[in-house]
Amino acid sequence: MNTNHLEKLGEFGLIRQIQAQAGTAEHLVKGIGDDCAIQRQESDKELLTSTDLLIEGVHFNRQWIGMEDLGRKSAAVNISDIAAMGGQPKSLFLAVASPVDISVSELQQFTRGFLAEIAEYGAILAGGDTCRSPGPLLISVTVQGDVAAGTAICRDGAQVGDAIYVSGTLGDSALALIELHAGRRPDAYLLTRHNTPRARVALGRQLAEQQLASAMLDVSDGVMSDLGHILSASGVGAELELAALPLSKPFRTALKQNPQLIDLALAGGEDYELLLTSAQQDLSEMAALVPKLTKIGHVCQQPGLRIRNFDGSFYQCSRGGFDHFS
Ligand code: ADP
Ligand code: MG
Repeated sequence: MNTNHLEKLGEFGLIRQIQAQAGTAEHLVKGIGDDCAIQRQESDKELLTSTDLLIEGVHFNRQWIGMEDLGRKSAAVNISDIAAMGGQPKSLFLAVASPVDISVSELQQFTRGFLAEIAEYGAILAGGDTCRSPGPLLISVTVQGDVAAGTAICRDGAQVGDAIYVSGTLGDSALALIELHAGRRPDAYLLTRHNTPRARVALGRQLAEQQLASAMLDVSDGVMSDLGHILSASGVGAELELAALPLSKPFRTALKQNPQLIDLALAGGEDYELLLTSAQQDLSEMAALVPKLTKIGHVCQQPGLRIRNFDGSFYQCSRGGFDHFS
């Protein structure tokens, strides 16, 4: 028997290791080790909870991402949902169903990456579940966070006349994925954006605390698709400027070769940047907001989403946003 396999350590041995690494937090009365985690609640705050599934072959391919980065990404994409409400992540719950060909050391790398990532946002691992998978590697992550009562930024608050902003740059992750699918090695920066995206927690919190955003979400399926969620929830329409989309240097370089790649910035997915609407028309001038926000359009009365091309005409994107069932 390969001693590096899970049979030797056992489910409970693995959990004990995770428990020893997980640490403690002020709000966590009891973490890993009992039937439930016990958390102290602050009365002037509201509890935020979100769950994500990551399935091998659907959300990731083990050939293209190391286990430590996979741990980081599993945490970041889940915490991104707390950032998108303007909240502070506090506790995470991690369930892993592991196929036989994954070694203990690979699971340890995964845990190390997961714990390192959540520590960067001041959050803690408070529980989970561990079992064998007869099929692919399956990861389920739940995050709980909090926000000052009444200050969470929802999707339904966009108003006609609001400016539309996005943080960071768009399309980097999708471009890396296209390169990987084509059997090419992506630019190092683009690959980082795909394999280890960061959750925009500090920015989200600042926007909530200063009440700067009327609606917000994180861009997971592409700006077009995700902005569509804000528009339908708010009962408004919008116009975007193609020329205003924030693009990284490596993305611009690729775009020069293939102008069609602009559609990745609109509908690529997995950007994990914050997309928001705001009554403030000059938010991008606020130097304190990190990463920088770029104004990419405005909210209007006329339903639907229109995209202005460089020459002022309307642009038709060739891609839809990501949808698991279409
Ligand atoms: P139960 O049988 O009550 O579900 P488990 O034996 O599955 O308990 O889990 C024991 C403890 O270890 C619980 O506190 C659970 O939350 C935690 N736990 C199990 N797997 C993980 C994991 N992968 N990451 C973090 N905590 C875990
Ligand atoms: Mg269990």
